[in-house]
Amino acid sequence: MELWIEEIQGQDVRLGLRSKTVLHREVSEFQEILVVDTLSYGRALMLDGTFQVTEKDEFVYHEMLAHLPLMSHPAPRRVLVIGGGDGGTIREVVRHPEVEEAILCEIDPRVTAVCREYLPSVASGLSDPRVKVLHEDGIAYIEQHEGAFDVILIDSTDPVGPAVGLYSESFYAACKRALRPGGIVCAQSESPFVNGDVVRRVSLSVKSAFSQRLLYLAPLPTYPSGLWSFTAGSDHELPRVVDKERAARLFTRYYTAAVHEAAFALPPFAAALVE
Ligand code: SAM
Repeated sequence: MELWIEEIQGQDVRLGLRSKTVLHREVSEFQEILVVDTLSYGRALMLDGTFQVTEKDEFVYHEMLAHLPLMSHPAPRRVLVIGGGDGGTIREVVRHPEVEEAILCEIDPRVTAVCREYLPSVASGLSDPRVKVLHEDGIAYIEQHEGAFDVILIDSTDPVGPAVGLYSESFYAACKRALRPGGIVCAQSESPFVNGDVVRRVSLSVKSAFSQRLLYLAPLPTYPSGLWSFTAGSDHELPRVVDKERAARLFTRYYTAAVHEAAFALPPFAAALVE
């Protein structure tokens, strides 16, 4: 019998991946955690029925969330990732030789443990000696750390449960306080096709705290609609052109200096969401 693992993406849309087997299933204190072995996307992590990471396309998301903001900073020494318990964003952060300390603040210790076991190619960065893994609520953590980080990355689940507060104005005001001068924040901000309201909400929250805001897009085949957005904020201008050699030394598969520059070209339908 065929095994299909589906994400229900609203009343009329589903994404189904034919799978070989379910490798792990548990219900943690925060969510249902499922790891499946799919035929076309490799192993996949699902939380509460939504695809978070697949081995085949995760590099696009993690590279675009991490490298655009880190390359926009002249010396990103201390970096905070909120959420991101799979480790993919941290793996990209530690590619930057300037990074001295990278802190992962993931609320659910079970996500980190399960990804270390079943998705080692994603979780590999968690073992870097510069990485400190904390299992705390990112909202409380950020309030307690003023002027501490050069870059803050928000790699959260959808705005439900403990992630709701990560989309608010007060959270971005706290991020601003937690940044050092010249600091940059960047968040995954959902799909411009399916979650226009969330794209807009994150944009307004970032704008309420920072003078500069950049909305940019990347293709993500296993996320709703296949097109995803990220929103960066800073009080310094985010550079359109970055050092090509510094970018080449990251040895990435999606992000390059040219992709960075192209990210500033926003299609009008997406720009209209945040105007
Ligand atoms: N790439 C993913 C996506 O957009 O589908 C996000 C992946 S990552 C697994 C999201 C993580 O955010 C989850 O493991 C969840 O436990 C964590 N999270 C949610 N709310 C949080 C909070 N308030 N503080 C810290 N981590 C949180």
